[in-house]
Amino acid sequence: MSALMNTYARANIDIVRGEGCWLYDQDGRDYLDLAAGVAVNTLGHGDPRLVQALKTQADILWHASNLYRLPAQEALATKLTDATFADRVFFANSGAEAVEAAIKTARRWQGAKGRPERYRVLTFGNAFHGRTLATISATDQMKVREGFTPLYDAFDTTPFNDIEGAARAITPQTAAILVEPIQGEGGLTPATPGFLAGLRALCDQHDLLLILDEVQTGIGRTGHLFAHELYGVRPDIIAVAKGLGGGFPIGACLATEDAASGMTPGSHGSTYGGNPLACAVASAVLDAVLAPGFLETVRERAALVDALLQRLLRRHSDLFVRAQGHGLMRGLQVRASARDVVAHLRDFGVMTVAAGADVVRLLPPLTISELEIAEAEARLLRAAEAWLPIAA
Ligand SMILES: *Cc1c(COP(=O)(O)O)cnc(C)c1O
Repeated sequence: MSALMNTYARANIDIVRGEGCWLYDQDGRDYLDLAAGVAVNTLGHGDPRLVQALKTQADILWHASNLYRLPAQEALATKLTDATFADRVFFANSGAEAVEAAIKTARRWQGAKGRPERYRVLTFGNAFHGRTLATISATDQMKVREGFTPLYDAFDTTPFNDIEGAARAITPQTAAILVEPIQGEGGLTPATPGFLAGLRALCDQHDLLLILDEVQTGIGRTGHLFAHELYGVRPDIIAVAKGLGGGFPIGACLATEDAASGMTPGSHGSTYGGNPLACAVASAVLDAVLAPGFLETVRERAALVDALLQRLLRRHSDLFVRAQGHGLMRGLQVRASARDVVAHLRDFGVMTVAAGADVVRLLPPLTISELEIAEAEARLLRAAEAWLPIAA
């Protein structure tokens, strides 16, 4: 029996090593990693640039706390603000903390404007924002809430991709709108362009802040540094994590100067937030993703993955219903339990992730090669041919 708390339905394999887009188990079996640690391993496993950045920083300074200025943290913040709409960054250690920081930032902004009664945040059906008590309160999915009620009554939920519903849900107590540009855990549903643009317009009209949860969509995943660039919608605040550290834990809340104006000394903090090791690795991730040609290559690879998925859908309409998503963030809706299909694909040497009840997510490292995409297709086809519907 494991000494770990029983919070995950883990597959019965030990992952002992990773290299590039490949994972290896205790028996030396290889798996093409189209999960990338749930959109985390941006540059795959063991990228020499990240290993070097970590080793170099390990010799310099591990931790000193936010009682002082830390050059590694200042450097990463500047890289992030230079590359985005944002002027200010708060560093955390995870996605949920980045979302929490975003919510706190929005509430302080309303408070500083003399409107403390505006504290509620509008969220959407099937959203996912993390597992802390506040972020599960922002998530209307039963599976994350069950057993944890009563939750924090500061969120209003309205259907995703329904702009009229969102307009109706705004009240004199609304402070901000929090939304994923592409719902990750909820089933890989992209926001329609009109929906995101409409939310921006609602925020402008009602003096609300637009918070985008880019924890999963960020850091090149969609073929753009952030998904809001793909949509051409300007946020006030974004939450970032997963891909930022390429496997080293870090989260960040990015905001405009105005949106961050309520966050004064003492208003928020995190002991580990902006840890020098995390910042050094994240800086190396950003350098790679922002290097000339990198995101163009991601978009080219994404087109190959898209073509692969279209062929798979045509050949195996018995198993696959449709594909959706952007860039290297793709979902395959299946005519079966997503968990069963993920386990089946793993038996054929491909790692994927379930999203919701019937969507299988493909989130490969952004560095996946053309050859590896071809190998993925071969393995997915073999798996699809061997699929026997359990219900039949
Ligand atoms: C994963 C995820 C989170 C939570 O991130 P953690 O690092 O697990 O806390 C929040 N929002 C979105 C959109 C995510 O995909």
